[in-house]
Amino acid sequence: MKTIDELLAEGVDGKRVFVRADLNVPLADGLITDDGRIRAVLPTVKALVEAGAKVIVASHLGRPKGAPDPAFSLLQPAERLAELLGAPVAFAQDTIGPAAHDAVRGLEPGQVAVIENLRFNAGETAKDDVERGEFADQLAALADIYVGDGFGAVHRKHASVYDLPARLPHYAGYLIATEVGVLKKLTEDVKRPYVVALGGSKVSDKLAVIDQLLGKADRILIGGGMAFTFLKAKGYEIGASLVQDDQLPAVTEYVERAEKNGVELVVPVDVVTSAGFPDLKTKAPSNPTVVAADAIPADQMGLDIGPETGALYASKLADAATIFWNGPMGVFEHPDYAEGTKAVAQALVDSQAFTVVGGGDSAAAVRILGFDETAFGHISTGGGASLEYLEGKTLPGLAALED
Ligand code: ADP
Ligand code: MG
Repeated sequence: MKTIDELLAEGVDGKRVFVRADLNVPLADGLITDDGRIRAVLPTVKALVEAGAKVIVASHLGRPKGAPDPAFSLLQPAERLAELLGAPVAFAQDTIGPAAHDAVRGLEPGQVAVIENLRFNAGETAKDDVERGEFADQLAALADIYVGDGFGAVHRKHASVYDLPARLPHYAGYLIATEVGVLKKLTEDVKRPYVVALGGSKVSDKLAVIDQLLGKADRILIGGGMAFTFLKAKGYEIGASLVQDDQLPAVTEYVERAEKNGVELVVPVDVVTSAGFPDLKTKAPSNPTVVAADAIPADQMGLDIGPETGALYASKLADAATIFWNGPMGVFEHPDYAEGTKAVAQALVDSQAFTVVGGGDSAAAVRILGFDETAFGHISTGGGASLEYLEGKTLPGLAALED
């Protein structure tokens, strides 16, 4: 994989460089709530600007249905990019149409343009190779060089991620180079003990990675909504908690395999429950109760790991040399259920280990709960992408950057 440093050494002065970024930021009522992904691509954009390239930044945002939809416009992320760069950024109101071509033609060396949401064009996500290829051909007409830096999208076989780099000289940007370097540290001769904390909502999202980790990790700590499928597999009453009954056989098999492989698989010993799902908008007090994991009342819903579990998980993380954490331990968006996630985040901060946080919500939790991002070894910008890498899959957007 050639990196942007090699490109800079070759020289980019006056060249049109297409940067496939991941500006897919969370929006609430049309406002950006976390600009981490925009900041993550700044090193690449700045380096290209300083080297005198004409920089075209492109991304998807949300899931528009293959046609323009103002609710998913990249205008706001483009404006934030301009603020962070401290320089004006041109914005094209289409992707491959006259506005995009005008914007690119108007660029002087060292200037930046953002084109509209790639998913406003059905070709971006098309399953059909020909349809995707046609869109990639049109994107290729905008630029001389491709830099892949949208790590959060590299697990997608999309036109701008997979097909476009095949049509232009291609390089990995700083973000992708960093992310891949970190993931290699988690897969190739990992420093032990290697402890993994997994949470989040759905066990089905994380099954494949658990499957892989059972052959790699020394210890796996289970929290979040998916813990209840594990507790149910143990025969516990889990009340009204989130559960995926169809995953019970898989989970039972994992518990058995963990034992056979000598992997310590740890589940909560206590949980914080409430009578219903809390209001995340008003954050109104919701009457949380701590109960033992094997004594969840039938009318209660488990929404966080309990304080004893938080302390237990912190102790299980304390001697680690490598930690990977994916998925909040509870519904951290409400203050009544944020303590478990805080306990795990704090354990990572306190640890001497190489610590990696993966997952969009986990990364957001770290920032929202007020932790200093620099206290972590690495905070990944791509939840799905980092999980699929750890699952051992070939990621289309990384394969496309290989020569
Ligand atoms: P990530 O994006 O970090 O991979 P996920 O998307 O898998 O994480 O899950 C994050 C979501 O899981 C959060 O919105 C959080 O509220 C939810 N969650 C955590 N614990 C529970 C629980 N006990 N019940 C329901 N949802 C939960
Ligand atoms: Mg998520």
